[in-house]
Amino acid sequence: MIERKIAIMTSGGDSPGMNAAIRAAAKTAMSKGMTVYGVRRGYLGMLNDEIFPMTGQFVSGIVDKGGTVLLTARCDEFREEKFRAIAANNLKKRGIEGLVVIGGDGSYHGADLLYREHGIKVIGIPGTIDNDIKGTQFTLGFDTCLNTILDAISKIRDTATSHERTILVEVMGRSAGDLALQACIAGGGDGIMIPEMDNPIELLALQLKERRKSGKLHDIVLVAEGVGRVYEIEQELKGRISSEIRSVVLGHVQRGGTPSGFDRMLASRMGHKAIELLEQDQGGLMIGLEGIELVTHPIDYAWNGERRTNLDTDYELALLLAK
Ligand code: ADP
Repeated sequence: MIERKIAIMTSGGDSPGMNAAIRAAAKTAMSKGMTVYGVRRGYLGMLNDEIFPMTGQFVSGIVDKGGTVLLTARCDEFREEKFRAIAANNLKKRGIEGLVVIGGDGSYHGADLLYREHGIKVIGIPGTIDNDIKGTQFTLGFDTCLNTILDAISKIRDTATSHERTILVEVMGRSAGDLALQACIAGGGDGIMIPEMDNPIELLALQLKERRKSGKLHDIVLVAEGVGRVYEIEQELKGRISSEIRSVVLGHVQRGGTPSGFDRMLASRMGHKAIELLEQDQGGLMIGLEGIELVTHPIDYAWNGERRTNLDTDYELALLLAK
């Protein structure tokens, strides 16, 4: 048993699976005799000293809950050194040496600074539906979100077919097209627009016209939010195709819901791994999934590293299957 104090926090956009990661990290740390603290409301709470001793009961019954029981927030002050010093001191005055940060790449920037400026041993767990963090093939929440989108597409298709319409579906992903692309392939989408590719409207219009010529009665087009607003794309498409067009923005429904089995497993493994790393006195690292293995990278790999995806081949596949 090691006398060690660690804290766990969630930060930035919430994603399904965060609670499973909190639970796994807390239970693992407790099993190793560590004292576990929770930080409420991300860096905002760290700055405002919202740090509390976590109990086993706090993490009980949360594995299947979306969102985050630690709450999350955005905190612009954290971009300033003087506020980070206050926040770091709130950890240090309790003797907290290690910190598990579950969040997206913005949260990792804050974590990297806490590590380099104040020596807090930080371990990052990638929690975002967007799947936009380098150094991991999947982020927590992506799979659940993808399934939410697939469910929505099935429902939208019923009405699209009945009215023989073209429906543009805007999905989240910030500047990454993974959600739109995988939803297009797995959901039987009929057109795709993602920020990683050129998306000439003429090409989309041509593809949709070809579909109609071959007897198709509807079209579902997946548009990643990183491409632009779906209502503007609708205006551009009008006049280029003869079918009626409607647009749907799926919005925050994509963020919620009970995490999928995949996300719960990934979260549990990553939460456990984070504590193993802290036990070994490591810090300044992010955890990723490569193949079936958990890997670690320096935390700045999230933005300086290489993003390995199957985007090109998946894009070709999406176009082929959309015909
Ligand atoms: P996400 O972690 O989901 O990408 P944000 O980009 O909103 O979400 O970042 C979450 C929080 O991380 C911000 O509100 C801020 O407190 C902190 N943060 C983001 N970028 C930086 C930065 N460059 N320096 C310090 N802190 C940052």
